[in-house]
Amino acid sequence: MQSNLNCADSTCAFNKSGNCYASHIKIEGFDAYITPETYCDSFRDAHSFNLSSFDDHSSLTGTQNISCSAINCKYNFSGGCGASHVQINLENDSCETFQAK
Ligand code: SF4
Repeated sequence: MQSNLNCADSTCAFNKSGNCYASHIKIEGFDAYITPETYCDSFRDAHSFNLSSFDDHSSLTGTQNISCSAINCKYNFSGGCGASHVQINLENDSCETFQAK
C-alpha cells in the first residue's frame, strides 16, 4: 500500500516499511524557518509503546491526516498540509518537505 506520507524513522512504533500507521500526526514548528526546527510530535518509541493494531491498513496515514503548526511553511493551510508528498526525516523526525514562505 502506498501513501503520500513517508517517514525515515524506523524506530517509531507507527512506522512500517517507511509508511506511517498513526492515523493522524501532529507536526510542530510554530517558529520554524528551516526543516530542523520542525518535528513530528506523534513519534512514539517502538521499544516502549505497545501498538496492538500495527497491521491495520485502515490507519495508513497520508498528508490529509497531518495537523501542522509550522505556519511559516508555504504548504501550511489553516493548520493542514497542502503538500502533494511529505517526507519525515530520521534525524529529529523533522519535516523534510518544509519550505519557508
Ligand atoms: S510540508 Fe509544511 S505544512 Fe506540510 S507537514 Fe511539513 S512543515 Fe507542515
